[in-house]
Amino acid sequence: MVIDDVRWIDPITLIRGDTVAAHPGQSIAVITPGAIGTPVSYKYDGRVLRIPLGHLEVRESGELVVIRYHGRPRDGLIIGVNARGRRSVFADNWPERARFWIPTVDRPDAKAKVMFIVAVPQGWRAVANGTSPPWQTWNDDVWTWTENRPIPPYTMVLGAGEFTVSQHRPVINGRDTIPIQVWSYPEDSAFADSVPFRRATEIVEVMQRLIAPFPYEKLAHVQSSTKFGGMENSSAIFYAEKPYVDRKMREGVVRHETAHQWFGDAVTERDWPDIWLSEGFATYFDGVIGAALDGDSVLVNSMRSNAEAYFKSDVTDRPIVDSAYAGDPIKLLNANSYPKGAWVLHMLRGIAGDSAFFHGLRAYYKTYRDTNATSEDFQHVMERACHTDLGWFFRQWLHQPGYPQLDVSWHYDAGARRAVVGITQHQKLGRGVFRLPALTLEFHGPAGAVARRTVAVTGRESSLNVAVPFAPTEIRVDPDGKLLLQATATGLQRSPDGAGAGSGRRAPRSAGLHDRRVGRQSPRRALPGARSRQRRLRLAAGFRRHRKADRCES
Ligand SMILES: [Zn+2]
Repeated sequence: MVIDDVRWIDPITLIRGDTVAAHPGQSIAVITPGAIGTPVSYKYDGRVLRIPLGHLEVRESGELVVIRYHGRPRDGLIIGVNARGRRSVFADNWPERARFWIPTVDRPDAKAKVMFIVAVPQGWRAVANGTSPPWQTWNDDVWTWTENRPIPPYTMVLGAGEFTVSQHRPVINGRDTIPIQVWSYPEDSAFADSVPFRRATEIVEVMQRLIAPFPYEKLAHVQSSTKFGGMENSSAIFYAEKPYVDRKMREGVVRHETAHQWFGDAVTERDWPDIWLSEGFATYFDGVIGAALDGDSVLVNSMRSNAEAYFKSDVTDRPIVDSAYAGDPIKLLNANSYPKGAWVLHMLRGIAGDSAFFHGLRAYYKTYRDTNATSEDFQHVMERACHTDLGWFFRQWLHQPGYPQLDVSWHYDAGARRAVVGITQHQKLGRGVFRLPALTLEFHGPAGAVARRTVAVTGRESSLNVAVPFAPTEIRVDPDGKLLLQATATGLQRSPDGAGAGSGRRAPRSAGLHDRRVGRQSPRRALPGARSRQRRLRLAAGFRRHRKADRCES
């Protein structure tokens, strides 16, 4: 196996890396840096492979190192029987299991180009990252795939077995044609093509409109024995096989994994605690792509489910960027990284507006494509796009645990025609206080009267006087579900003579305050269809404006 683009961690003493994790039956035979075929001595302690470079001149571009090894990996490359009872081989590397079968520094920021040449039994097909050469035929027993973009080791994969391969409509980008392929076990092929992958091409096209052209040479959607529901391997996404067999697989996972090609694969978190840059983005774009294809209610419903999943999770006392889990990335596959991460983007979009939000995302993608980014990198790009400091936003949503839990109490001062609103953040002290610069309150009154007001909440206790032209009977907090919060609104009715509690005057009927609890509100509320269509059109107009602006800037 040839590993290209080798860089050196320490040019004097050793080849970088923790590398092939061998076990009995797997062995490393020859290692030759420099002149191909010149064996060199090396040290291998079962985890790290060290090659003294001696007199070799280390160039910027690195040296070619050929590492020959053989054996059956303990993990990472799964050789077994698939859900249809046939033998197959699938790589499954996330998070740091590539090292079991590829000599590599197994870190998300050790991106490299990769080529796989795979010899398979007759009747098998093999898929991997990148593109196959023009001479590759579909009946060969040797398959070549080359990925010309640097990709993270956890997405360097191959899959081999008996597949039916469907060619869906390709994506055409100028002179580039991106094949869209669906690789399924023969029994599941018709289902895969017609249900989860029916709009595989359209999904890519939506991401292209929103962000940038597809990052890789082709996109293969592959039924596989991955232990994850879906694994976003660069240009060769692997999906769990059982939902195909059970006919339960739907498009959501395809939207999520496809979005990862831009966010997660092309732009990768530098280290695991920033994994929300991958999973939060893919979770959000599942809803965003759905909304672009089928209307805003898809995003509204998706964000509602994300909120519910997060509220009932067991990570609400931990922050999204959770360095305590840096050494155990599996623990980061939680409701902070996925649904709350999606909410961070949704709320950021609310603050920035569609125009600056997508402008910022495109700039972030363009800046960090094929490399790695941190949450701070993302923050800085978005601050430039929004022309404002967003430190407070990223601090409270990424580094502070929990979410705002609001008690809203109010009464109406008929003389002043104002609602007096008290807002208390009653989340646990350890979760801190949240700044909500634009919280919408919707006042409902008699005969269908409605008035909306936007207020700023900064401290644990806020007291606000809000002009409302009628006596409200109900207040709805954040009626469009723009914020990740829970709120309870309680109306405090004053006595008929206008005297309130604490005034010292006895109210003839209610002897003080009368609690009219209107109940806990769901943080989400669907947008009416007509408004959705309008919003979609506005969104499209926004993108057009942006593309123009981008051209002007360049
Ligand atoms: Zn994901």
